[in-house]
Amino acid sequence: MNIQHSQQSKVTTLPLKGERGGGLKQIAILGSTGSIGTQALQVIAAHADRFEARILTANRRWELLAEQARKFLPAAVVIADETYYEPLRTALADLPIAVYAGADALCQVVEGDEIDLVLTAMVGFAGLPPTIAAIRAGKPIALANKETMVVAGELINGLCQQFQVPILPVDSEHSAIFQSLMGEVSPIEKIILTASGGPFRTFTREQLESVTPAMALKHPNWDMGAKITIDSASMMNKGFEVIEAKWLFGVEPEKIQVVVHPQSVVHSAVQFADGAVKAQLGVPDMRVPIQLAFSFPERLQSDFDRLDWFTMHSLTFERPDTDRFRCLALAYESLRQGGNMPCIVNAANEIVNRAFLEGRCRFLQMADIIEQTMQRATFIKTPTYEDYLATDKEARRIAAEQTLPSKFV
Ligand code: NAD
Ligand code: MG
Repeated sequence: MNIQHSQQSKVTTLPLKGERGGGLKQIAILGSTGSIGTQALQVIAAHADRFEARILTANRRWELLAEQARKFLPAAVVIADETYYEPLRTALADLPIAVYAGADALCQVVEGDEIDLVLTAMVGFAGLPPTIAAIRAGKPIALANKETMVVAGELINGLCQQFQVPILPVDSEHSAIFQSLMGEVSPIEKIILTASGGPFRTFTREQLESVTPAMALKHPNWDMGAKITIDSASMMNKGFEVIEAKWLFGVEPEKIQVVVHPQSVVHSAVQFADGAVKAQLGVPDMRVPIQLAFSFPERLQSDFDRLDWFTMHSLTFERPDTDRFRCLALAYESLRQGGNMPCIVNAANEIVNRAFLEGRCRFLQMADIIEQTMQRATFIKTPTYEDYLATDKEARRIAAEQTLPSKFV
């Protein structure tokens, strides 16, 4: 593996595979301390005869990362925030595990020859550079980090084609669509993208005026990281999933119908030219799509809960309300405009998401600030990778100007 640096680390190469690795799929998990990352490790632990965690990474949670490394004995770990390099290195000093720090190291570790699959389970725009590095190194991607496709779907698709790299969706809806498409050769007439509607599904606009972060963090069906939980409450998450679906499945937004389905049992569906609809159903459990992305095209045994058809009361479906959940409409609008507009929306959303969590902007203000940022940031019709980096910076700055600064909280 060709890692030279991470300035703070003295290690220049990774330890040899040694006893480990024989025939097992070697998985790099970007974001192993998060909700998706920890569930991915559960899948690996349950199928230790098939998978091995080769690389583990985190942003700041070095203690959990060290604990995971002690248990799974990866070849290397990376802590993105360099402040935590020393304590992490010390904690793992007795083990043959290379320790790196910094965002660049994330891009370098995914390139290693031994890696068979990269799970992108980081949050936000930060997932883009290592995903690109992994694709350039020819690594299949298990994609959880939807922001990568939102920001730069076209660029990612081009690279995947150039480097012959498959993307296996981990997002439950996209995994469901992927599963519904297995064995099909005919074009998609329509994608039915289901949405739980989040904790505020039945709230009036007046009620939405005063919702708190604590209320938004209580998702009815899924236990996820804070950022995506807030995005689910605002339905920006569903907007992002429309964009993700467009790029993953090559379907125009007019053919992607969001359907609110509060029980989260139908994970999404595909309708074909003859009117037939194929859906994938199951108990809401992210380990199912994670495991399938790891084992594809096979399905492995699991002890996850099964659907109980006789206690399921009813499955209901509603039209989404884009007047109350304007973020969904803004995401569609960004796709209509194309170019770097979804990147602008993503950056502004990362700022308002954090601001709302920290009490620096109100719930309904999030859409206002995103819309303002869409109007003010520089539009680029055919952005390059460097343009995306610049757009992300500019849009964050514009959005941040419209939230209260941290000192006011
Ligand atoms: P999380 O906040 O629980 O975990 C995020 C992980 O990424 C952590 O390990 C964190 O240390 C790491 N990380 C965060 N910022 C980083 C940075 N700047 N540099 C390096 N590492 C960083 O998030 P999550 O809920 O697991 O979500 C991860 C991704 O998967 C997101 O893109 C999310 O949209 C997507 N996703 C999550 C779920 C879910 O059920 N949680 C479902 C579908 C898709
Ligand atoms: Mg989803």
